[in-house]
Amino acid sequence: MKKHTISLTDPESRWMMDKKENISLNFNYQVAVDSKNGMVVGQYLTQNATDSKELFEMLHEIKIQIGINPKVLVADNGYMDDNVIKYAYDNNIRLIIPDRNESSKNKSKNREKPYHKVNFTYDWKTDSFICPMGKYLNYKNNRKLNGELMRVYTTNKCKTCPVKNQCTKSRVREIFEPANDLRWKMKADYKSPEGKIYYKKRANLNEAHFGLLRNARNFQKLNRNGMKNAEKELTLAHNIQKIHEKLNATLI
Ligand code: SF4
Repeated sequence: MKKHTISLTDPESRWMMDKKENISLNFNYQVAVDSKNGMVVGQYLTQNATDSKELFEMLHEIKIQIGINPKVLVADNGYMDDNVIKYAYDNNIRLIIPDRNESSKNKSKNREKPYHKVNFTYDWKTDSFICPMGKYLNYKNNRKLNGELMRVYTTNKCKTCPVKNQCTKSRVREIFEPANDLRWKMKADYKSPEGKIYYKKRANLNEAHFGLLRNARNFQKLNRNGMKNAEKELTLAHNIQKIHEKLNATLI
C-alpha cells in the first residue's frame, strides 16, 4: 500500500528504509568525505532506495567539486557494481570495497554457523579455499550462476568427511567466486595492508561526519523541501563547521 502513496509535504521523497531499519518517506543521502580534512567533496540526495548504482554518480560529483578523481575510493559492499569497478580501474582509481563474503564476515550470525562460507579461508598461494576441517577446495571450473560467470572450488575429500551432512546436502561442497578479474584485483586491494587501513579509516570518517551532523549541529532532519534545496542545507551544515575548525586551528 505504501508504494502507491506520496508525501504531500515533499512529493520528491520516496519510501525507503532508514539507518534504524524503519521504512518511511526519505531521500537516500550519498556523501564522500576526504580522508585528510574530513571535508565533504561530493554529496547529493537520490530517490534510489539502494546504493548499488551510486558510485558512478558520486565519482562524477567529486570530479565537479574538486576537479580530479580520487586516488583511492573506499565504500561498503552495497556499492559493488562491475561497471563502476571497470570505470574506476580504467581511470587509475584504487577501489577498497569488500566483496559480499568479506562483508558477511562482520555479521556474527554468519560466523557462528561453522560451515558458512565466511568460515572458509581463501589461500592466495594455491588459489583454493581451506574449509573448517582443513581440506583444500581447489579450482574446478567456471559455471554460470544467476547469469554471472563464477569460479567453482571443490574437493572430493567431502565424500568421507565426518561433518559432511552439516556442511552440504550435495555430493561435495562447492564454493563460488565471481570470475571477473577486476573483482579479484579489488579483493586483493581490500585485503592488502593499506586496504585494511583505508577501510578502517572509513568507519571513523563516517562516524565523525554523521556524528557532527546529528549531534554537534543538532541536525536530525531536513528542513527544506525538494531534493536540490535539501542538498544545499546539507552542504552548509557540514563544511562551514569544518572550515571554522581549520581556521581556529590556524589562528591558535
Ligand atoms: S564436507 Fe567438505 S568442505 Fe565441508 S567440512 Fe567436510 S571436507 Fe570440508
